[in-house]
Amino acid sequence: MKKIIIANWKCNPESLAQAKKLFNSVKKGVKDLKNLEIVICPPFTYLSSFKFPSFAKASEDKQDSSFKMGAQNCFYQQGAFTGEVSVGMLKDAGAEYVIIGHSERRRNFGETNEMVNKKIKAALGVKLKVILCIGETAEERKQGKTDDVLLEQLEVGLAGIPLTTNYLPAGRQGKLKTTNLLIAYEPLWAIGTGNNCQPQEAGKARLLIQQEIGEKIPIIYGGSVNAKNVKSYLDVGYNGVLIGGASLKSDEFVKTIKDS
Ligand code: PEP
Repeated sequence: MKKIIIANWKCNPESLAQAKKLFNSVKKGVKDLKNLEIVICPPFTYLSSFKFPSFAKASEDKQDSSFKMGAQNCFYQQGAFTGEVSVGMLKDAGAEYVIIGHSERRRNFGETNEMVNKKIKAALGVKLKVILCIGETAEERKQGKTDDVLLEQLEVGLAGIPLTTNYLPAGRQGKLKTTNLLIAYEPLWAIGTGNNCQPQEAGKARLLIQQEIGEKIPIIYGGSVNAKNVKSYLDVGYNGVLIGGASLKSDEFVKTIKDS
């Protein structure tokens, strides 16, 4: 499996020109690295301005690396929903991935596990790859509730989506692979704080998630990942990382990828 590196730019940078500069500088920095899937998730308005190339071609060992584009959110319907962006629109703009249930959406915009579930079904229905974010707050961790919170987020978020067979939403033809699903374990207290979760604790969460969803679905870690700590997450079994702050500085991001 290719190493998955996801860059969540959040509500940054302020202009398309800056976004292109950032991307071009990352592209230059990683051009010789193999066996990577780098997913850049810019704000909606920049999506259709990027065309992401494959790089580090290695045709014999199938270890090509490539950039893919992802969105940071989606809506599960189309029509009279002012301000929302549908999964079909994201596909049309060139997105291959979509982050769903990021803690900033849950906390700041009231997204519930039920809404997350609807979004995931809609996204899988148009063959977007879903990055489902789950994680506990500092308080929940203190109260020893981490496992319960993670299990509930998985159970409700993935309700009605069979994980062992292919998912076929109502009214659709053809098979949709649940390999289009990735889980990102992102403890809230570790996001944007510099206080990254220690690998041993993150490893425990990964095992719990894997027991719940099986071995085929990739699991990645997010929360203050940087060049110094990135490898420790891969060493405890994660298939990749989700990077926020450090993905906005090209030097730091490239170094983090190189050190992974
Ligand atoms: C995130 O935005 O999901 C994230 C992990 O951010 P940071 O890397 O800044 O902690």
